[in-house]
Amino acid sequence: MHTATAAVLRDYGTTPRAEPIELPPLRPDEVLVRIGGVGICHTDLTAAAGGVPIPLPAVLGHEGAGTVVEIGPDVTDLDVGDPVVLGFDSCRTCRNCARGRPAYCTRFAPLNYGGRRADGSTTLRDASGAPLHGNWFGQSSFASLAIATERNAVRLPDDVPLVPAGPLGCGLQTGAGAVLRVLRPEPGSSIAVFGLGAVGMAAVMAARIAGCGTVVGVDPNPRRHALARELGATETLNPDEHTDPGRRIREITGGGVDHAVEAVGTEAVIRQALASLTIPGTCATLGLRAGRNPVTVDQTHLLNGRTLTGVIEGDADPHVFLPELVRLWQQGSFPVEKLIRTFPFERFDEALAAVRAGDVVKAVLTFDPQE
Ligand SMILES: [Zn+2]
Ligand SMILES: [Zn+2]
Repeated sequence: MHTATAAVLRDYGTTPRAEPIELPPLRPDEVLVRIGGVGICHTDLTAAAGGVPIPLPAVLGHEGAGTVVEIGPDVTDLDVGDPVVLGFDSCRTCRNCARGRPAYCTRFAPLNYGGRRADGSTTLRDASGAPLHGNWFGQSSFASLAIATERNAVRLPDDVPLVPAGPLGCGLQTGAGAVLRVLRPEPGSSIAVFGLGAVGMAAVMAARIAGCGTVVGVDPNPRRHALARELGATETLNPDEHTDPGRRIREITGGGVDHAVEAVGTEAVIRQALASLTIPGTCATLGLRAGRNPVTVDQTHLLNGRTLTGVIEGDADPHVFLPELVRLWQQGSFPVEKLIRTFPFERFDEALAAVRAGDVVKAVLTFDPQE
């Protein structure tokens, strides 16, 4: 049995609080990871507010990176001491997993939001021995130790810094995958990115990697614009300064963009993104909102060769795509570190407040390596 410190969410609508936790012995397919850094993703906030049905009490956190400190007897591809980044969990065997699309695993919800192992047991206990729900995205990494499996732990090169690597596992994979794996823009084509948080910034970096000629970054927070330009945006737009942001993008691009990435998830922004498209054009919507999220779309607008598609986790297989992103990072074309501000785990509240206020693009919690 191991002990660790974790941020435990006991009631929806409250801030997770640091508590001592216990981790029972590993199952044969599990790995124990000492977390070096874990990003705060918007989905953690949505879940803490009650917008994702994870049972409580629970430990959230799903952008963890760290070092493997123990492995179960059935683990073959990882060893103690390996640096890893943790992605979402998938069964690796269903129809969609088998064809390389684990983001659409038929068991995605129970594996990532169920709070338990497939056999119904929990991976975590509180100090009194009462069960805590873990397995959030196969990791529950708002904790100094996390239990994952080979299915979602991806080996990192030895020379990659662990603390900034965690967000590759969700937010950065989501934005970059939407561009490089789903939209696949041709060199010289145009793209607009709505919402310049970590997902949107990853989409901007990916657009530059893909060779897009025009990259329009759209966000009401003007503090985001300079960074977006540094990362690859050729134009930036504050939608609050225009009555019709879609029309404004059509004007500045001479007829509209070939592609749009929508990383906000509100009906207003989805409609702006669709309105910014040329003919033909494709919009990928990525922003997760709690519960049902109906959007009215003008079918006449779509008939002209326009597509609206939804994308989870960049439609990527973390075992394939994360090593690609790491290579791009090491080559300097995917500068993850520019998005990140670190906070010691003890300053969780401060990190959350900075995320909610839009003061940071990506907050990463760090742990004392001695703990
Ligand atoms: Zn599957
Ligand atoms: Zn996430």
